[in-house]
Amino acid sequence: MEPMYRSTRSEGKTVTASQAILKGLAEDGGLFVPTSIPSLDKSFADIAKLNYQETAYEVMKKFFTDFTEEELKNCITKAYDDKFDTKEIAPLVEKDGTYYLELFHGATIAFKDMALSILPHLLTTSAKKNHITNEIVILTATSGDTGKAALAGFADVEGTSIIVFYPKNGVSRIQERQMVTQKGKNTKVVGITGNFDDAQSGVKAMFNNKELAKTMAEKGYQFSSANSINIGRLVPQVVYYVYSYTRLLGQGVVKEGEPVNFVVPTGNFGNILAAYYAKNMGVPVGKLICASNENKVLFDFFETGVYDKNRDFILTTSPSMDILISSNLERLIFKIAGENAKATADMMNSLATDGKYEVTDEMKAQLKDFVGGWASEEECAAEIKRVYDKTGYVMDTHTAVASAVYHAYKEKTGDTAKTIIASTASPYKFGTSVMSAIDEKYKGMDDFALIDELEKVSGTKVPKAVEEIRSAPVLHDTVCETEDMQKTVEGILGL
Ligand SMILES: *Cc1c(COP(=O)(O)O)cnc(C)c1O
Repeated sequence: MEPMYRSTRSEGKTVTASQAILKGLAEDGGLFVPTSIPSLDKSFADIAKLNYQETAYEVMKKFFTDFTEEELKNCITKAYDDKFDTKEIAPLVEKDGTYYLELFHGATIAFKDMALSILPHLLTTSAKKNHITNEIVILTATSGDTGKAALAGFADVEGTSIIVFYPKNGVSRIQERQMVTQKGKNTKVVGITGNFDDAQSGVKAMFNNKELAKTMAEKGYQFSSANSINIGRLVPQVVYYVYSYTRLLGQGVVKEGEPVNFVVPTGNFGNILAAYYAKNMGVPVGKLICASNENKVLFDFFETGVYDKNRDFILTTSPSMDILISSNLERLIFKIAGENAKATADMMNSLATDGKYEVTDEMKAQLKDFVGGWASEEECAAEIKRVYDKTGYVMDTHTAVASAVYHAYKEKTGDTAKTIIASTASPYKFGTSVMSAIDEKYKGMDDFALIDELEKVSGTKVPKAVEEIRSAPVLHDTVCETEDMQKTVEGILGL
């Protein structure tokens, strides 16, 4: 059966893929999930012969079933072009016996580009298909990387505008500079005084505000989301798990059917959920290793079955993972609850009211594909240095969290399965943390001051994305209190 999309929180109603992409979030506050996970038409051996764009088509056509072949191929061609600095799009690099899947070769040098370079095209195509004439307002909360990737994707895209909220004191200097220098007459960037969870809750509240939706409609606007809750973000991420597995197969590193592990540095649980979907499409996966930083709410969840966000929010050197409410986990909860919308809604309601919920033993038993792990700030820094000293490879802090968790896991279990680590950002994005992990003498120096030094140490060229912002003028300087997010949006749209 062809997948349609339904909400995780109520029964009955289904929508098409293009409608789910347009809405972002279901009306009941739930997330859209496919009614079934499709399998691929071609064998993995055949997919191993395809390039990234062709692989993307094989995966996406199974999920976006109301797009024509021409529409989908057109979206893919526009997304995965020379905005990426390598033809492979997502190269797999072997270091020290482990495979690093580099997802940072796009316009903003973080893995968010993998999905956000195609989302605007999926969205505008969806609008056309559904005869939408309103201007689509993309409202986004960011822990640093989504914001810039979404801004870059949507800048000057006809029929859309984008407003990004970020925690003023919770992103790296390079991340902030990337956002506040964004060009495009339809872009707005706003810092908030709260943290990422505050930004995300504020955005969710606006999406769920029926009154606001009505006022917007009267003025010819409607909201959509570029956050990873949008199914148009999730599905493009499934592609690189299929792609990386088939690269190993094509190179003869793994035999047909031989399982691989994926290690994913995790925040909102979108990236690793995509790996889980890839597994459900038939990719032979051993373990899905979910790596957290000191905000280890997911590690505790996998250990105990209790999700509890009542704890201090810690600012770490891997800020894109500084998250206590992992929104996409709801899709996994729904799955392991036997697709029971009532049970899912109850748990999400207790998360909203008490900040926690507990899964049943039956549900917990279905989490055996996953292994949770976490790395402290010291372990993350030590891993950057260990791998650099051994191989000369310089990785960013998020990737290092995953790499550290994997090495601890391997030592503990003796698991020798081939392993792919999702490498989610370029080290240039977090220069100070990366360089001071390699050598103490860089401590306290600024991200910008270290760019040229990083080039020497890593032997990889300064990416265009970094070169551009070194001298670009600041175009956005709005800061608001968390409580005033809606007022700010109303002001921007002239409501
Ligand atoms: C967003 C992000 C993550 C976390 O990914 P999720 O899909 O939110 O779990 C990890 N690393 C980097 C660099 C990111 O930008």
